[in-house]
This record gives sequence, structure tokens and C-alpha cells, in this order.
Amino acid sequence: MGRHSAVKTPRGATMGAGKATTAAGANGTAADGEVVARAIDLTKTYGDKDSQVVALDHVNVEFMRGQMTAIMGPSGSGKSTLMHCMAGLDKPTGGKVIVEGLDVSAMNQRQLTKLRRDQIGFIFQSFNLVPTLTAEENILLPLQIAKRPIDRAWFDKVVDVVGLRSRLTHRPSQLSGGQQQRVACARAIMARPSVIFADEPTGNLDSHSSREVLGFLKNSVREYGQTIVMVTHDPRAASYADRVLVLADGRITQDLRHPTYDEILEVFAGEGDEVEDGPQADATSREGAE
Ligand code: ADP
Repeated sequence: MGRHSAVKTPRGATMGAGKATTAAGANGTAADGEVVARAIDLTKTYGDKDSQVVALDHVNVEFMRGQMTAIMGPSGSGKSTLMHCMAGLDKPTGGKVIVEGLDVSAMNQRQLTKLRRDQIGFIFQSFNLVPTLTAEENILLPLQIAKRPIDRAWFDKVVDVVGLRSRLTHRPSQLSGGQQQRVACARAIMARPSVIFADEPTGNLDSHSSREVLGFLKNSVREYGQTIVMVTHDPRAASYADRVLVLADGRITQDLRHPTYDEILEVFAGEGDEVEDGPQADATSREGAE
């Protein structure tokens, strides 16, 4: 299936993915497709007046449905804070977060819990599976907690795509890191959330498993119009994304559309450890993007 052909959204409506032909401005405003989540003048500061840290400095950005966006930048540049504010895990100091037209920044705890349960999927570096549950039980747990019906046909499809068919009765300790992360991906995708936030999803994986997990995430974007926002330090992982945002000092400094691995490397050239090759350093081409 072509990268830009019509795709099914997670909630079933058909839409055109639409390629952005021009890069958006440095404030991250996109000109194509349907907006799933947006930050408006988003600010987050920590500490008091004397020792204030500005983690996010008036960030404006839109995340489009059916796109995979990578967020990169040096340690301390605000990547986690942006993701946590977008996901309703952290309260902004100023500005707004809108997800599916809902003002997340104005929600109370009960509304936030519902938002995270119904609209948002998470994938963490450390997998975050329940150790006493099997792979299948882990994948289905969020739906069961939400008392939502389980679509067995969708479950079968997801399980086959992530290649977990023969591992469904295994507990996390009986699975490799790559398999555990595939369970976490399946769990996130099973609920068909509006947006999946992935925090260094390949940070603990070897190069082979990383490619598998990234390929699978990319596939869920292409085939099912899933929206993914992924924080990563790894240029190779970022090269799978449709768009790469670069943060520095709490601001978006670059907004790249379909950058190649080399183009991403160039952004960080001369910045020491931020250009280190990630776990996929053995690969030489932009394998994930095509
Ligand atoms: P990144 O994910 O890019 O490494 P973070 O979003 O974690 O960056 O942090 C951005 C800035 O905010 C950093 O200077 C960090 O020290 C600061 N920060 C993050 N969380 C807290 C916190 N809970 N208390 C105080 N400062 C924080």
C-alpha cells in the first residue's frame, strides 16, 4: 500500500493521508490532513521564581491523523514534558492542549482518566507489561478495564501483524525484549486510540528487534491510519517517521517532512552524543521509510 493512499482511520472513517509538500514553519503548524492533537502556546515551567526551569516555551504544534511524528532533541530540551502534557499526564503552566477537539488542559482528574483510557495509547521504553498476565491478557487489559467490547477479528489481525500468535499464553518473563515490546504495541493499537505516544520505544531493544517494532508501528500508520508521536534519541528510529520535530530549550527549532536518516544526522551534526548511532547503527539505508 502506498504511503500516501487513502487510509482507514482508527475509528473507521476513510481519509486521504495527503503528503505535505512544504515544510511547516518552525512553530510546527501543519497544513495537511486532519488534526488529532494540538498544542497552543504551550508553556511549562518548573520551580519557583529564583530557580525556574522553562521546560516548554510557547510551543505551537499540530499532530495530523495517520502520521508518525518523531520528537528529537538533546536531553532536557522538553521532549518528555511535551509528550506528557499532550497525553494529559502533566498540567501545563500556560497555553492549551486539544485532543480530538477536547481541551485537555481544562479537564479534571476524572475526565483526564477517561481521555487516557479512551483516546490515548502509550508505549514505554520499559514495556510496562503486567508480569503475572499472559501476552493475550496484557493486550486485552485496557479494554477490559474500560469495559469495552473486544473485537476478536481486530485482535487476530493485530496479533498476526506483530507476530505474536505462538506467544499468546506466555508471560512477559518468558518473552524477549522485542517480543515484550510487540505485546506493548499490540496493547496500544488494540484499543484504536486517537493517538499513541511512544517514549523511546526502541531504547531497550537490539537492532533487529528495533527494526521489527518500528516496522510494525509504521505499518499501523500506513494500513490503519494510526497516529503516533514518538520521542526518540535515535536518528535511525526517527527516519521511520513522516515528520521529525526537533526541540531545543523548550522550543521547536526544526520541522522536517519525510527526512532521510542522513538529513536527520545532519541536524545534529557537531552536537556530540545526540548524533550517536542508535541500536540500528548497522543498517545503512532509510529502510523503515519506504
Ligand atoms: P527531555 O525529555 O527532552 O530530556 P524533559 O521534558 O524531561 O526533557 O525536561 C525539560 C526540562 O525540564 C529540563 O531542564 C528538566 O530538568 C526540567 N524538568 C523536567 N521535569 C521536571 C520536574 N519534575 N521538576 C523540575 N524540573 C523538571
